Amino acid sequence: MRRFDLVVVGAGISSGSLVYNLLKQGFTGSILALDRGDKIASGATAFSAGGFRNLWTSEINQKICSHATTQLKNFQSEMGVSCGYQPCGYLFTYYAKSWVKIPRAAEIWAKNGVNFDLYSPEQIEAKIPGMKCGIDHIDPEVAEFLGFEPIVGGVFGRDCGSFDPSQAAVGYFERAMSDYAVKPQLQLNTEVLKVLFDGARATGVTVKDANGAEEKIEAGIVALCCGSWVNNLLRQSGLPEEDLTPVIAQKRMMFITDFPGHPNEDPRWHDIPLTIIDQGIYFKYESGNLMIGKARPDEPDSFDTTLEPSYYVDEVNQPMQERIPSTSVCKLKSGWGGLYDTNSADHNAIVGWHANHPGLLLQVGYSGHGAMESPAMGICLAELIIHGEYRTIDCKPLRWSRFREGQLIHETIVI
Ligand SMILES: Cc1cc2nc3c(=O)[nH]c(=O)nc-3n(C[C@H](O)[C@H](O)[C@H](O)COP(=O)(O)OP(=O)(O)OC[C@H]3O[C@@H](n4cnc5c(N)ncnc54)[C@H](O)[C@@H]3O)c2cc1C
Repeated sequence: MRRFDLVVVGAGISSGSLVYNLLKQGFTGSILALDRGDKIASGATAFSAGGFRNLWTSEINQKICSHATTQLKNFQSEMGVSCGYQPCGYLFTYYAKSWVKIPRAAEIWAKNGVNFDLYSPEQIEAKIPGMKCGIDHIDPEVAEFLGFEPIVGGVFGRDCGSFDPSQAAVGYFERAMSDYAVKPQLQLNTEVLKVLFDGARATGVTVKDANGAEEKIEAGIVALCCGSWVNNLLRQSGLPEEDLTPVIAQKRMMFITDFPGHPNEDPRWHDIPLTIIDQGIYFKYESGNLMIGKARPDEPDSFDTTLEPSYYVDEVNQPMQERIPSTSVCKLKSGWGGLYDTNSADHNAIVGWHANHPGLLLQVGYSGHGAMESPAMGICLAELIIHGEYRTIDCKPLRWSRFREGQLIHETIVI
């Protein structure tokens, strides 16, 4: 029987960062990463908008994302390959009722070294061509129907931006497999059917390869970096419901449109920050197009990822064109659906050892912010494995057992 010191389920960005950072920190054990996909990054990593920001209201998310932002900034120089790092900034916009909470958040950001600027409506309008912060231009009935209010201010995150999570995942695995004496193995087209347990302890996995052949593999540690599918795997492994995670799978769609006025568009569109407006609509510049998203709040727990163009027309473009009238002409060119591994309890990552199962490590439940957190989380989890403790950032607040202990994370900026 094959045996590895560490078996990682999944080959997305969270797995890549963990494997790379373990080797970088001197781990000399044998590593096998498994994914049922035929390439690195075949899950959520491939469908991400790739936004990164350190503007958060919880201290743990701020620390993780500030550290991750530095990793992304230095990615090219450290790894020798690009991760598509674009420090375009993030611009959150606010109605009056939310804006009153910003001074308190701003105090915390300033204390924690987060670089940000508070924007007036005029400054927001100067950043986004054609945007109108007021609502006088909108039919009052339409404004009421859409729940629109005047935008009274914005927060611009100077260290934020976007990157390509798939490129980063590939970079992590490539470096991990080429730069260190101990070569981790990456086995694609291989489904993990079960995690094996001896009593409570995780001791390995059963896998099925592309030809349908099953194999048992022994492991010192089994790390689950398998996103939305984590509970399916734990159930198949025979764990009781109380040992699962509160993770559900939720579809999130991204839409690609051309710019207003294409092809004679206003070149200022090319320099916009990743911007969040009414009802959580967010958009950014993407390779000559606009990439637009908006989470459907009551999306069911399902693995369906069908793209719904009608959702763009009714729920995204209609409100967007009221706020930015020139976007009424934006034509939908393409799009896709992917899955958030939503932690339905508090919408934050679940990382570290499973309290009831020694040898079982979790890195799941990222709830739409795993691409930006993985570059730092891989460092922290590597420390936990090698030294038995977190050293760079104390990630204990994100432990699995917090749900049993009533210690949820209170984070108010999740999109
Ligand atoms: C539309 C969309 C927009 C997003 N935008 C952002 C954003 O702007 N910023 C941000 O930070 N995050 C964003 N995210 C979230 C981000 O993409 C994820 O948090 C991140 O990619 C998680 O990475 P991962 O490696 O943990 O999981 P995944 O990339 O999902 O990888 C899990 C892997 O596990 C494999 N797997 C699962 N079960 C098994 C099994 N039984 N056997 C073998 N293999 C298995 C899958 O094939 C998959 O490749 C977005 C997500 C979506 C869908």
